[in-house]
Amino acid sequence: MERGSDQVQRLEKELASLLDQTVGSDHVEITRDPTSLYRYLRARDWDVKAALDMIQDSILWRQRERPDQWTCKWCREKTGYHAMRQVGHDALGRAVFYSSFIQMTLTASSACAEDSVAHVVYLLEQAIRSMATIPNGSDSCVWVMDCTGMFLAACSPRVAYRVNQILSHHYPERLARILCVNSGYMMRGAFAAIKHFLAPRTAAKMRFMPVPITRESLLDEHMGDEMTEWLMEEIRLNAQRTIGDSQLRFWERPAATESVHDPRGSDGYVKQFIATYRGSLKGGDPKGVHHPHPNIIEAVTACK
Ligand SMILES: [Zn+2]
Repeated sequence: MERGSDQVQRLEKELASLLDQTVGSDHVEITRDPTSLYRYLRARDWDVKAALDMIQDSILWRQRERPDQWTCKWCREKTGYHAMRQVGHDALGRAVFYSSFIQMTLTASSACAEDSVAHVVYLLEQAIRSMATIPNGSDSCVWVMDCTGMFLAACSPRVAYRVNQILSHHYPERLARILCVNSGYMMRGAFAAIKHFLAPRTAAKMRFMPVPITRESLLDEHMGDEMTEWLMEEIRLNAQRTIGDSQLRFWERPAATESVHDPRGSDGYVKQFIATYRGSLKGGDPKGVHHPHPNIIEAVTACK
C-alpha cells in the first residue's frame, strides 16, 4: 500500500490513537512520527495490533538500551576496526553507508556479533539525524557493501542473524537496499546461507551489482551524480593491488599532495557534516547533531 493513500492514513490514525491510550504523550519520536507509524505498519503487513505490539517493544528497548547514546567502543579502542561508515546521501535523500573489507582492521579472530550490532545501531541512529537536516531527507538508508578482499569470518551467518534481528525489530524498513559490489562466490555462498532466516522482503533488498561496477548501475539505484562519482573512485582505489595510505586511513582527510579523493565521504557530506563537526558541538542542541564514524570524530576533534 502506498504511503499517503486513504487506507494507509486510516490505519495510521488507528495506530496513533491506540498508542495515545497505551503509552501516552511520551516517546514522541516514535509515536508522533508519521513515517514510523507507516514503517511499523508495513513491517507487520498492515496489522494494527501487531504494529502496536512492535512499537511498544521498541519503546521498551529504547528506554532500556538508550541507542541514541551508543557509540562503538571497538572502533574507539582500535582505530579503523569497522570501516563501515556513512559517506553521504543519494538522489532520494537516503543516507548511504559504504563498507570495505580492505579498509577494516577487524580480523578473523576478533569478529563477533556484539561489535557489529553496536556499530550498525550507531550508524543508523546518526543517519536518521543526518536525514532530518538535509532538504529532501528520507527515512531510510542504503548500504553499499564492497566485497573486495572479503574473508569468511567477517560474514558469519551468526553476525548477520543478530544484526538482522535488531534491524527488523527496532528499525523496521530503515534499510532500503544492500548493494553488493565486486561480489564473488564467497559472498554469494554466504548470502545463500543467510537468506533462509531473512524475511522475503528483507532478502529482496539485496542487489548483486555488475562486476566490475558501472556508473549506470549506480545511477539506476538512484545514487545520484555526486554519490556515484565518489563510489566509483572509492571502489576503484580499494581494488588496487597496492592500497594507498589515504585509503587505509579512511578516517583522515587525505594530504593535499596525495589524492583529491576524500575517503571520508562525498563533497557534500564532508562539507555539511565533517568540516563543521567541531563547531556544531558548541551551540545548539547537541542531541540533534549527526556524529560521523567514531574515528573521523577523533581525527577532526584532535586536529588544531
Ligand atoms: Zn565500530
